[in-house]
Formats: sequence, C-alpha cells, structure tokens
Amino acid sequence: HKYVYDFAEGNKDLKDLLGGKGANLAEMTNLGLPVPPGFTITTEACKAYLTTGREPDGLAAQIEAHLESLEREMGRKLGDPQDPLLVSVRSGAKFSMPGMMETVLNVGLNDRSVVGLSAQAGGNDRFAWDSYRRLIQMFGKTVCEVPGEEFEHALDEAKRAKRTQNDLDLDADDLRGLVDAYKKIFAKHTGREFPQEPREQLDLAIRAVFESWNAERAVVYRRQERIPADLGTAVNVVAMVFGNLGADSGTGVAFTRDPGSGAQGIYGDYLANAQGEDVVAGIRNTVPLQELEQLDKKSYDELLDYMARLEEHYKDLCDIEFTIERGKLWMLQTRVGKRTAAAAFVIAGQLVDEGLIDLDEALHRVNGAQLAQLMFPRFRLDHEFQPVAKGIGASPGAASGKVVFTSARAVELAAEGESVILVRRETNPDDLNGMIAAKGILTSRGGKTSHAAVVARGMGKTCVSGADELDVNVPAKKFIVAGQTVNEGDVVSIDGTTGKVYLGEVPVMPSEVVQYFEGSLDPEHIDNPLVRAVHRIMTHADAKRRLLVRTNADTGADAARARRFGAEGIGLCRTEHMFLGDRRELVERLILASTDEEREAALAALLPLQREDFIEIFREMDGLPVTVRLIDPPLHEFLPPLEQLAVNVAVAQERGEDVAKEEALLAAVRRMHEENPMLGLRGVRLGLVIPGLFAMQVRAIVEAAVACAQRGGDPRPEIMVPLVGAVQELETVRAEAEKIIAEVTREKAVDVLIGTMIEVPRAALTAGQIAEAAQFFSFGTNDLTQMAWGFSRDDVEGAFFWRYLELGIFGISPFESIDREGVGRLVRIAAEEGRAARPGLKLGVCGEHGGDPDSVHFFHEVGLDYVSCSPFRVPVARLEAGRAAI
Ligand code: ADP
Ligand code: MG
Ligand code: MG
Repeated sequence: HKYVYDFAEGNKDLKDLLGGKGANLAEMTNLGLPVPPGFTITTEACKAYLTTGREPDGLAAQIEAHLESLEREMGRKLGDPQDPLLVSVRSGAKFSMPGMMETVLNVGLNDRSVVGLSAQAGGNDRFAWDSYRRLIQMFGKTVCEVPGEEFEHALDEAKRAKRTQNDLDLDADDLRGLVDAYKKIFAKHTGREFPQEPREQLDLAIRAVFESWNAERAVVYRRQERIPADLGTAVNVVAMVFGNLGADSGTGVAFTRDPGSGAQGIYGDYLANAQGEDVVAGIRNTVPLQELEQLDKKSYDELLDYMARLEEHYKDLCDIEFTIERGKLWMLQTRVGKRTAAAAFVIAGQLVDEGLIDLDEALHRVNGAQLAQLMFPRFRLDHEFQPVAKGIGASPGAASGKVVFTSARAVELAAEGESVILVRRETNPDDLNGMIAAKGILTSRGGKTSHAAVVARGMGKTCVSGADELDVNVPAKKFIVAGQTVNEGDVVSIDGTTGKVYLGEVPVMPSEVVQYFEGSLDPEHIDNPLVRAVHRIMTHADAKRRLLVRTNADTGADAARARRFGAEGIGLCRTEHMFLGDRRELVERLILASTDEEREAALAALLPLQREDFIEIFREMDGLPVTVRLIDPPLHEFLPPLEQLAVNVAVAQERGEDVAKEEALLAAVRRMHEENPMLGLRGVRLGLVIPGLFAMQVRAIVEAAVACAQRGGDPRPEIMVPLVGAVQELETVRAEAEKIIAEVTREKAVDVLIGTMIEVPRAALTAGQIAEAAQFFSFGTNDLTQMAWGFSRDDVEGAFFWRYLELGIFGISPFESIDREGVGRLVRIAAEEGRAARPGLKLGVCGEHGGDPDSVHFFHEVGLDYVSCSPFRVPVARLEAGRAAI
C-alpha cells in the first residue's frame, strides 16, 4: 500500500489523499514553481493510525525511503552535525482548517546540529539558536503538550532581562540561554530530555500531526464548518527554508485578489527576518506586501509572476505563503483562497469577463449562504457617529454588542441572549467558542490573514482586526481608545467592511444588494461591481433553474416585497393572523356560541374581514398563484391562557362583579385544554368539527377572487387543507368547498384549485390515495419533521438538540436543513406515489426548508415544482435552484 508520495507524484486533484496543502504543493512543484522538496504522507495513513492507534505496516519503511531521496536531493542528511538538513512537519487536511492543526518547523536540530546550522549560515549563531528554540517550543507544545504559556513566559523573561520588547534584540547568547530554559521546561513537563535523535523527532512529530486531527478545537471547527469527522489529515514533510536569516530574508502571505472585496491588485503582508508562524499569529506588525518591492525587487517581481500564473492555472483567487531566504523566493503553500461573500460574487463576475470561466461555473462558485450574508443590513452613519478607531475590515457586516474580553464570557452572555463583541489583542484557536458565540470580533493586532480574520471570514462573522489604536487590557477587562475607557458590558459597533469602530449602538440600513432586489438600484446603470455581479449571476440562475420560487406571505405588504424579490406566487398564506387583534373578540364569540344562530352570526361577521384581506393579497400577486391555507392552529390559541383567566374570574367574583361571560369563557378554555396541542384538534380536524368554519374561509377566498376578477384582475387562488392524514378528510372538505365555489363563481368564472398539505407521515404514506382528491400537494416540512421524529420544535431546541449536535446524531438541526434519509424519504414517496396516481400533480414545499440551500437542492432532485420561503430567502432560493440545475 502506497502511503507516501513525493511532491512530484501528486497533483491538485488528489486532495482526498494528499490533503489540500500536499495536493497543491505537488501541483506547484509540477508547474515548475520553486517549492522546497518534500513528500506527503497520505490521509489513509492517518486514518489507519487513528483507528488502530499505531502506524500502519510499511509506513516507516516508505518514510525512510522518501527521506533518503530527499537527503540525496538536498545533499544533506537530516540533523547532520556538520551540515544538517532540517524539515518542517505540516498538517494538511482536505479542507483547510486555518490554525486548527499542527505544524512543527526546524525538525532535525539538536545540541550538535545547531552548530552545523550556524556554520551553514556563514557563522550565524543567532539564527541557529533562534531556530533551535523555536523547535523546542513548537515540538514541546504540539508533540508533548507542554503548556505554550511557559515558553512564552520564558521568552518574555529573556526580553525583560534585555530591556526590550522585540525578539530581534535577543542575541545568540540570549537565545542559547533561552534554549536551556526551554529544555528545562520540556523536561519538567514530559519527564524526559528533549529528544536529540533527528529521526525520533520526525516520527514523533508525524504522529502528533495525525493526532491533532482529533484535537478539541479541530473537532469544534469541523462541526461548525460541517466538515466530516472521518477524513483525517495528511502530513507534509518539507525541506526547511529560512526567512529568519537576516534583513534580506523574510516571510509573507499574498492573495491574487482582495479576499475582502474581490478587487484586483496586490494584497498581502510581509515580515522581514521572520519565520512562518510569525505572520499568521500577528505577533509583530507586518508591512503591506507592496513594500517588498523596495526591499527586494527581484523576489517581488518573481512573486507577482507566480501569482499571475497560479491564478491563470487555478482560474480562481489563490492565497499563497512564501518565504525569502537571502534573496531567494520559495513558495510554501497555495490554495484557492477563502473570500468574503461579496468577493465571491465580484470575482466570479470578473473571471467571466476575463474569459477564464463561463457563467455556469460562475454560478457554481457562489452560494445562497453568501447571498444571504450580502443581504445583511449596513450601518446608517450620520455625523453624530464618528469612528474612534480604524482597523482592517477583515470580515464584512455590521455588528453591535456588549464588549467582552474572554471566550468564556462571550459564551455566557450569548447564552443569555445578549449580543456581544469579543475584543482581544489577537485571537488564537482557543477562542473559537467565543468567536462562535459573538456577533462580531475586534482585535488590536494582526492583518487580514491573522487567525481572527481567517476564522471570522470562514464563519461569516463580522470582524475588524488590527485596530491598533485600541489599548486592550484583557485582565482588567477594558480597553482604552481615543482617551476613553471601554469596560466589559459597554456597547460598541464594528463595521467589518470599512474596519471602523464606533462607541455605542449605530443604527442599521438595508444593504446595496437588498436595495437592488427592492428595485431601487438599476443594475444596468450602477457601477457598484458587487450589484452588477449579483445581477448577472441571478439572471443566469433564473434562466437555468427548473424550480419555481414562491413565498410565504400573509399580508399584501409581504406579498408585494416578496414579488419584488422575485417570488412567483405565494406558497403559503396563513389565515391565522386574520383571527387576531380586534378580531379576537369575533373568534371568542365563535368559540363560545351555544346555538347555530350565534355561531353563524360570528362567522358572518368574520367573512367580510377575511375577504378584504384576500383581495389585497390577490391584487399584489395578480396573475400568480396564491395558496391559502385554511385555519390550522387549535382554537384555544385564540383564547386567553387558562391560569390568567381563572385568576381574573376569581378576582372579579371577590369584588362581586358579574362574571357570567368570563365564566363561560373559562369553561370553554377548560374544555378545550389539550395535553399536546400539536397532536390535538387542529387543521382539517377543526374544519370537520366546527360547522361552517372552513365554509366561511372558502367563501371569503372565492368571493375575493371573484371581486378581483370582476375588476379585471387575474387571481389564481389555491385552497390548501392542512394536516390531512386520510383521503376521506380531504374528500369531505372538498365536497363542501366545491359547492361554495360553484355557487360563488356563477357570477364570474375563476379557477380555484383544492389541494392539501402533506405534513402528517400517514399522508405521505397514502399519497397515492390522497392524490385522487387533491389538485396539488404542498409539503409542510416543519410539521412533517416534528411528526416523523416525534418531537416538537419549540420544546427540543434548548432541551437536547445541543447534545445531539455534539454527539453527531445531527450534523445540523433537521428543522434547518431537511433530513434527507428520513423526512426526505417521506417526501420522495409522496411525490412518486402522488404523481403516479395523478400525472402532473403540482408539488411544492412550504416549510422553512424552502429557503435552505441544501434542502433546495434536495427538492430539485425529487422533482418538486416549486419551493416557498420567507420573502428575504426568495433570492437565496432562486440562486440555489439555479445552482441545483447546472
Ligand atoms: P498552516 O496550515 O497553519 O498554515 P503550515 O504548515 O502552512 O501551517 O506552516 C506554518 C508556517 O510555517 C507557515 O507560515 C509556513 O509558511 C511555514 N513553513 C512551513 N514549512 C516550512 C518550510 N519548510 N520552510 C519554511 N517555512 C515553513
Ligand atoms: Mg500555511
Ligand atoms: Mg403544519
């Protein structure tokens, strides 16, 4: 079994096996770019190690063989005392997990080879001892779980002794002393000396990278990003090159385009005389990549050339890690770069313009989650709000909240429902839970590529990084900016697009993308590149999609807005709200009616009110279908709560008031009390039990349609019966409805469809029978999910979902994204059997899943005709329906 690949043996399509980093190192090697030689140990070796707890057979020998050939190529032996080869041992999974797993640099150094390294570098002792202390630090932390603070503490001590803040002021002797201190720390925590044998260092480091796959923060990150837990990581062993050899050396990161806006140009950070991690960790402040042109024109030009070649080759934005060793440029990593939602659209549009990709591919490169982000509101900035600081707009959005300084406090306050902004000097992987809990992240150090920036962008969370006017004091729980002290609990607002920081809560306004969807920005005449790109890609999605997109709307205003957002009808108009407010009293009369006359009078009073509501909705949706659901919730939802009513009655009786009416109401509430209202008297059951209720609603709908048609409109009503489980229920309602329709449409013909929701599992399983009586099905996937799983949404999310997500029983809540295997199977059965019984049966979905990207793809696959979702999700559903179709 082949567990080890030379860089020359791999390519970019082998990410499953070689991980992203290894596959791309191989690709760059084969493109002829200057990559230090090395080899990749596969994810399969990692998986084997993690399942059996030991290296698979043959792995050691393969590593030996590849190491020997690396040594031959470099003309040096690993850890050789005279002239050592050093390597880095780097994790690299299929999906990038920034900063989550481990890398050890400078493997091969020991008490003897450190001298050889110095000689190799022309007698540069400082460099050699600096490299050695880094090895002990990284190796100790990563491989042997020595607490990192201890090393940092010793480093701080050394700097204090030298009266400096800067690592670079430590000379060779200081660093030699630091190595001794580090070794003591290492021995204290591990009970053994720092391993001097190079090959043992290598093997232990490889093993530690394997194990880092299951480190807690990696597990949390994967869950958050929905990365499967069983992929494993590859391990890359790479010959070291050195950015810490002096002022003519350095290390940096670069993007081929701005990952924030998508604009073309030169983006990146550079740090002279430094090694790898220093840039990403934001430990020292970097300089913009452009300044490299002054520092080292040759390397700079070469880098720009490679960047252009990589972008041409990958046909996408790439990000790059590089190191310059004494004027020689080395490429250490590339990948198709993460980007903000706005940049994803802009870049996709640009690449089409540049002829690198076509519109189908552009559509493929963006997604509904990104579009949803672009619809976030922005700050409305009047002059009263002046920024107090400006950092780097690291991840866009507008966030306000109470300042917190620790991850734990962020989690605590967020659990109480507070919006919080996590403020740190810089974040590190231990802050992950706090970052998830926070509305936004604000740091005083670090660039666009710092940990905070990269992770926040991945999560779609607003982040301002490197706001260095902020003097952050975490232990004292405060920061000082512009002479003002901001304490824990004070409110700040951060703009992740501009990088500006404000004190207090800044009000928000709709984003440009929303203004475009609202129709107030003309896409043909605007030079906002984002709006143009969105327009272009949405137009293509609309041309490609097969699914229609309707909206869930209960009012004329919602219907009108959704229509501007592109809704092609209403998939769910709930009639419940028409029973609330002033009308509650009429409903009470209906419920309390003791005679037919009283009940009919109450219904007659409700009829014209409902009719007016429908007229407004039909007018806004003229020419498009409107599915109206007959009343669904249990009627006691319209009555006051039992306890409150009982108290009121008792109090009134005390006072000797006349309580006859209240007592009747109380009796009704008692009578109608249900142990489990979700499974009680609701939906079609109400229609069958309360004479005249559904008839009144049907009449209101049809009269409204006729009224619209008489005024020249084109109403398309569809009457939907909720909670049907047996065809007989539907047949009974339908017979009554058809009589009313025939009678009302005598004056003016209007087509009215009658269909049903499929939301009870029995309905899905008897869909063939039900289709005989239904002109359409609409899947109510909220109820279908509740009933298929046997839990009620309102009761479970706080009670145990967190645990199910933690255990991986759910990858994601089944209310958020459809459970394909279970609930999805019911949908599939009903769709197939329904259509078999009634060819061409119209099928839609009106649960909240209609606006969820993954679910939209599922509904496309199953062959539904439309999805219906809330007005704001309509553009997301249009986009995803287009993506599903290509
Ligand atoms: P991550 O996945 O967290 O980015 P990397 O494996 O890329 O971790 O390594 C961490 C840092 O060390 C990066 O800045 C990288 O460029 C640097 N680095 C890794 N291998 C080498 C090497 N062989 N020579 C010099 N620097 C290296
Ligand atoms: Mg890297
Ligand atoms: Mg329902």
